[in-house]
Amino acid sequence: MDIHFLGTGSAYPGSERDNTSICFSNDGYHVLVDVSGNPCRKLKQLQVDLRELDAVVFTHFHIDHIYGLPSLLWGMWLEDRRKPLRILCDKRNERKLQEWLSTMEADQWPIAFAVEIETFDGDEEKELLSGGGMTFSCFKALHSVPTVGLEVRCAGRVLVYSSDSEISARIGEYDHINMLIHEATSARKVAGNHSSLVEIVEKYDVERIGKIVLVHLSDGEPYEEEVEKLGTSKVIIGEDLMTQHM
Ligand SMILES: [Zn+2]
Ligand SMILES: [Zn+2]
Repeated sequence: MDIHFLGTGSAYPGSERDNTSICFSNDGYHVLVDVSGNPCRKLKQLQVDLRELDAVVFTHFHIDHIYGLPSLLWGMWLEDRRKPLRILCDKRNERKLQEWLSTMEADQWPIAFAVEIETFDGDEEKELLSGGGMTFSCFKALHSVPTVGLEVRCAGRVLVYSSDSEISARIGEYDHINMLIHEATSARKVAGNHSSLVEIVEKYDVERIGKIVLVHLSDGEPYEEEVEKLGTSKVIIGEDLMTQHM
């Protein structure tokens, strides 16, 4: 499985990072998790065909995670996409999503592909979709609005993505995680609704995790300094347009 990082920044404007958005690809199946700035350009740079993207999953409806959707759909239309696009969101956000699509008049574009909205209850653990040998499930994250973290299983391996969240006991329950993608809005500061790098390595059993990739990063935070102190190559500071394999 390839994990493409379209953006790795927090909600604060970053000089080097776009807001966090990640595309999971395996065997020609592609799932985009959250949609931040200029998604079409980023997907092209990462060599994911706009006509082939299978689904979009929204972890929550904070602006930094959703605002690229109009541009994504517009680009898909211009690329003459035909395949239906699944968009999955928490049932509490369905009305907002429908209203947004109607505000952008997506139903009036001579659009040749169907947009299929599917909802889930983000307070429940549930399998959301599967394809290309990947299976996506959600669990409740600890954030200020309804938010899900994701578990992605592929070829006997498990990846966990925290989305925006405080340190979560649910994530700590795994016996083994091959790759943990975790938000680290700060390096050291403890702030409600988010996590810091220091908390991640202190509160989870790092021995049980193969690799930790940090996303949702803020400018001016001493991540490098903290990673250096750890003396491990296990913790990776996310960068826009990088691809990881699992
Ligand atoms: Zn965010
Ligand atoms: Zn958020």
